[in-house]
Amino acid sequence: MDFLKADLEQLAGLGLTRSLRRHDDRPGRLIEIDGNTVLNFSSNNYLGLANHPDIVAASKEALVCGTGSSASRLVTGNLALHQELESELADFHGVEAVRIFNSGYQANIGLIACIAGDGDLIVSDELNHASMIDGCRLSRAAVSVYQHCNVDSLRECFGRAGPVRRIFVLTESVFSMDGDCAPLEQLRAVCDEFGAFLVVDDVHSLGVFGAQGAGLCAELGVVPDALVGGLGKAFGSFGGYVAGSQLLSEFLLHKARSFVFSTGLPAAVLGASIAALRVIRSVEGQARRETLQKRISQFRLCLEPLGLLETNSGFSPIFPIVVGNSTTAMNLTELLLSEGVFCQAIRPPTVKEGTARLRVSLSSLHTEEDIDTLICCLRDHCQR
Ligand SMILES: *Cc1c(COP(=O)(O)O)cnc(C)c1O
Repeated sequence: MDFLKADLEQLAGLGLTRSLRRHDDRPGRLIEIDGNTVLNFSSNNYLGLANHPDIVAASKEALVCGTGSSASRLVTGNLALHQELESELADFHGVEAVRIFNSGYQANIGLIACIAGDGDLIVSDELNHASMIDGCRLSRAAVSVYQHCNVDSLRECFGRAGPVRRIFVLTESVFSMDGDCAPLEQLRAVCDEFGAFLVVDDVHSLGVFGAQGAGLCAELGVVPDALVGGLGKAFGSFGGYVAGSQLLSEFLLHKARSFVFSTGLPAAVLGASIAALRVIRSVEGQARRETLQKRISQFRLCLEPLGLLETNSGFSPIFPIVVGNSTTAMNLTELLLSEGVFCQAIRPPTVKEGTARLRVSLSSLHTEEDIDTLICCLRDHCQR
């Protein structure tokens, strides 16, 4: 298969070669890279739960059910822990039912590909995550892309649409690479006006926003027709889910191919997710959210005078430091690394062409001094 080589060489020419680093410790505030321990500003471990002792203990305890679930949940893979997690998540979101998937990626492709089909129109924010894009492709529905967070552009898509059976609007709540928030209330209103269904990927706001960490939809009182959640980010565990009506949940059980044709999540992962959910909703979770918000404010206030604060970002733990060129971004990552700070460069196709960036993500584990250290590095190397 020598033809594969040409494509990789082309990527190399564009400065888009990727490689894996090894991180044998569970990344928290610090991370070991090439033998050096540095500050970690690249994980989605917003509340520091990925190495929380109670959650690790719960995960170990769940291992009495064995390591693997052995089959699809529809065959022999359905454990009491699956049902416990689904019902606790339904309570968390105040919805009728939740269907767990094996990852956020599988939740998005499974959901979108089975609710939309031939004759339907999906209208999707231009910066939506790859898993939503792939769900659109699998669905065979017509897809129209609107300008990022722009409700007028969304309306234009509705206006341009010919006769369609149903319309679905897809958005993230907090955008994964830009850290800004979708205008969820307006999107809900426009969907209602046109009789369209609203699907919100709330993955990056769970644990961070809303009462008990129930997310941005909860904080704004917006009820999507389907909410996609993730257990691999602030939960510090693994998996994804769709929250909504009992009917939707029942439909997914029959029709979502990534649910039907994939082995159920293993017990240890479910045990961790249940324990993480309880921490997120607890007083301790609230304290972690408050610490995180303090760090976010501190970072925002320091970033602004440097000219490095992107419009509409600064309120979530995700901050893009856009540099444009992919090689420049990679070099910057290496430079910061040599000064004891890890911020992964993010390049196309993860972000739009010409918008390569450092993606800074903050965690409640960071101290005030850690944020100062990061600011000093950025001041020295990135000031515009
Ligand atoms: C990470 C992510 C996903 C996928 O979740 P996984 O559980 O990692 O597969 C889906 N949507 C968004 C917005 C994400 O950032």
